Amino acid sequence: MLQETLRNKYEMVIGLEVHCQMKTRTKLFCSCPNNFGDPPNTNVCPVCLGLPGALPVISREAVTLALRAALATNCTVHEISVFSRKNYFYPDLPKGYQISQYDRPYATEGKVEALEADGSAKTVRLERIHMEEDAGKLLHEGYPWSKDQSGVDLNRSGSPLIEIVSKPDMRSPAEAHAYLTALKAILVYAGVSNCNMEEGSLRCDANVSVRPRGAAEFGTRAEIKNLNSFRNVSRAIEYEYERQVGLVEAGHKVVQETRLYRADKDETASMRSKEDAHDYRYFPEPDLPPLVISADWRAEALKALPELPSAKRARFVSEYGIPHYDAQVLTLSQEVADFFEEVARGGGNGKAASNWIMTEVMREMKGQKSEDGEVSYSNWPIKPASLAELIRMIDRGVINGKTAKDVFARMWTSGESPAAIVEREGLSQVTDTGAIEAAIREVIDSSAEQVASYKKGRTNTIGWFVGQVMKKTGGRANPKIVNDLVKTALDKA
Ligand code: ADP
Ligand code: MG
Ligand code: ZN
Repeated sequence: MLQETLRNKYEMVIGLEVHCQMKTRTKLFCSCPNNFGDPPNTNVCPVCLGLPGALPVISREAVTLALRAALATNCTVHEISVFSRKNYFYPDLPKGYQISQYDRPYATEGKVEALEADGSAKTVRLERIHMEEDAGKLLHEGYPWSKDQSGVDLNRSGSPLIEIVSKPDMRSPAEAHAYLTALKAILVYAGVSNCNMEEGSLRCDANVSVRPRGAAEFGTRAEIKNLNSFRNVSRAIEYEYERQVGLVEAGHKVVQETRLYRADKDETASMRSKEDAHDYRYFPEPDLPPLVISADWRAEALKALPELPSAKRARFVSEYGIPHYDAQVLTLSQEVADFFEEVARGGGNGKAASNWIMTEVMREMKGQKSEDGEVSYSNWPIKPASLAELIRMIDRGVINGKTAKDVFARMWTSGESPAAIVEREGLSQVTDTGAIEAAIREVIDSSAEQVASYKKGRTNTIGWFVGQVMKKTGGRANPKIVNDLVKTALDKA
């Protein structure tokens, strides 16, 4: 751990480059299916295999999704943009170049509102978003001859990506994490991508530099690759910050380079010195005309956008009267937001809906976390209508809060409706004052010592009596009625 004095002396500066695989039916420049997980080299054609003479044709669907991403992140969309060839050699790149956008991307100057876990807001500006095709994938294991050879799977070759480049606006791993969380939510809401880091449909490179606090100039950055979970992004940034502070403190210079994060060792290691743009010999792609995004196309895409997370958050606060923090958590995923709204509407109690989801439901869902800590909200073991019913039963006084928690646990495992569980197990609340009074009499008759103590003015013994009565009624008595009746009975005793 870095000393606090050094931490105060140096500021961390972070800019993120996010590659997002769009969920189009076909690839960017050919009609091969854009599917994850198919057998290797089954979704290929002359275009994405890079065979001589094959010509690219851009997918309208891909441009539409890219357009939605740009609009959802408040970018300026340019009517004319240009594809370029980025030349480099690698075995997963059969053409020897990647078709990308370089000096004339289709979108620039956006912004994303990020919210940290502590509720503080942070605006991260975007430099640009550009479209590009993905490369294939090298396979090193899992097939018959993988012992002594590596294979190439070109199913991914030519898949449509957008690269979202932030400005160096972030100052801590927590801010980077908040930005990624917000960006992912926006892209998923907008229907651009499922942003699944495990499947590689969201990939992130982190640029990190340090500078003395108060300095006007940025320091030299290192770019870290191979970050395959949000947690690793945070960890790699922290490691890299400490490494660079160590270098600067020792009088060395940070060199601009590309580094690889090794999760098993929690460290970054040099991969190659940073290539400059001229190394890629960018030039305009001669096989594609400039891309024209008309005002009509843009307007149509804007109209098709659903309510985005920030708007939904504001609406939840005003419509259901829930705290800002709750609204933030509930809107991170569209599934959770929809679930909440159904419960809130059906139960007629937004605050209760939020409380149940934020505590009981989230706790249970966390048990289903994937390896990188992400919770999948696609398989709810209970229906929103059931939770709404449970909330109505509490509000109508059919069951009390404690019983409701037990009923909830049963609902979660069996999927039954709360009414069915309460009916079968006889759990409905005892509001019959006769039955409660009988229980109170029994308790008072057998607790002379506590009664005496109450008479001496120790009024907090009331709590003990209430507890005993609740026990006698199997926890089903209405606690408010018990409270009132116990007090009356003790005063009379
Ligand atoms: P490249 O294409 O070589 O990666 P870019 O100019 O596109 O370079 O910048 C890449 C990323 O690096 C951007 O997200 C930007 O915010 C970030 N960045 C630029 N300078 C710095 C710096 N000094 N410290 C941290 N991040 C930086
Ligand atoms: Mg880069
Ligand atoms: Zn193809």
